[in-house]
Amino acid sequence: MIECPACGGKVTQKKVDVERWWHGRLVIIEGVPAHVCQQCGEMYFNGDVASEMEKIKRAATVSGERFIQVPVRPYRPAHQA
Ligand SMILES: [Zn+2]
Repeated sequence: MIECPACGGKVTQKKVDVERWWHGRLVIIEGVPAHVCQQCGEMYFNGDVASEMEKIKRAATVSGERFIQVPVRPYRPAHQA
């Protein structure tokens, strides 16, 4: 893949961290090979990479992994009428 199907920008191969939700938990998969558009930032994955990520996501409930805490806040504008 050389051109971004979304915007026609240049696409380069990169290792990225991918966020996926699985049973209400956020799973971050590190170092996933992706094609990233330099213009719009859109990420594209090969079919086998995508299915591998599905497997990793499903296995993510086992212990022994690193966990990070992420704050979740409701959107509440500071200037309310
Ligand atoms: Zn693009």
